This record gives sequence, structure tokens and C-alpha cells, in this order.
Amino acid sequence: MDEVIRELPKRAQEKQTENKKYFAKLKKKPPKNLDYVMQELHEAEFEKTDCLQCANCCKTTGPLFTNIDVERIAKHFKLKPQKFIDQYLRIDEDNDYVLQGVPCTFLGADNYCSIYEVRPKACREFPHTDRRKFQQISNLTMKNVAICPAAYNIVEAMKKKLPM
Ligand code: SF4
Ligand code: SF4
Repeated sequence: MDEVIRELPKRAQEKQTENKKYFAKLKKKPPKNLDYVMQELHEAEFEKTDCLQCANCCKTTGPLFTNIDVERIAKHFKLKPQKFIDQYLRIDEDNDYVLQGVPCTFLGADNYCSIYEVRPKACREFPHTDRRKFQQISNLTMKNVAICPAAYNIVEAMKKKLPM
């Protein structure tokens, strides 16, 4: 897995022009069965992906924390939301709460998340390849294929399954 993660940014870069063109066409004319196909591809890929061997998302990019996330996680630590914010978060250029740094402070050396049960919604949904109207997050997906080997494989499979 280490080798795969090391090579991923280069492989994603090589696909960038192709992906850009593909997603531009997808946005213009999304196939009727897009949600269904993405669900299938997502499930098939994650059936064979062991995130505990990877954790590259937690190591290289942090989630954003919604107010509901903050309240839930602060409660888990028996902290007041503001105290949790002061201790762990900062506000980024888009005015969102994000981690103060990466790797995520809640990631263990064994790649387990110490707040797994209460982790942010963005962590639960990453890499968003099973979300509805997938064509709407193409810019984000083009970034994620350089971080997440599963997202990379899903996009490659998608281009084969739904040629544009
Ligand atoms: S979601 Fe993707 S980047 Fe995150 S641990 Fe799983 S395979 Fe790795
Ligand atoms: S909160 Fe957990 S799942 Fe989310 S980035 Fe941190 S370690 Fe990963």
C-alpha cells in the first residue's frame, strides 16, 4: 500500500487532462443511471479496500467540522464546544472549521481513528464517490484521486463503465 500511495499523485497527474475532459462532459450530460452506477462502483471498490492499511486521507488532508460535528465531538470529550474548538481547530480561508494540522490529531499510529464513532460527517463520507449527483463534485474528486487510491480506482472504473 505504501508504494501505491507514493505513486498516486504522479498517476493522478498523468490522468488530469483526461479526467478534466471527462468530468466536463459528465457535468453537461449526466447519465440517468449515474447515482446507481456510482453506488455500485463505490461498494465494489471499498469491499476490497482496507482503509486501515492506508489512512492517507487522515494523514494528508483534514475534514471540515460542521457545528453539529463540533457539538457531538466536544460532548464525547466532555468539553464545551468552544473549548474543543480552541484546542483542536482553526478557521480556514473558506471560513470553515478545520484541523490545526495534519496528520489528524485523532489518528493513531495503528491508523485507527480514536473518535471513530463520533468522527466528522466529512470523514464518514470521504471520498464521496457514492454521493448523489456525483457530477457536481468533479473539482473535489479530481483532487481526491491524488490522495485516495480507492477514489482513483473508482474514477478509472467509472470512465470505463460510463464512457463519454
Ligand atoms: S478513504 Fe481512501 S485515502 Fe482514506 S483510508 Fe480509505 S483508501 Fe485511504
Ligand atoms: S477524525 Fe478520524 S477519520 Fe477523521 S481525519 Fe481524523 S483520524 Fe481520520
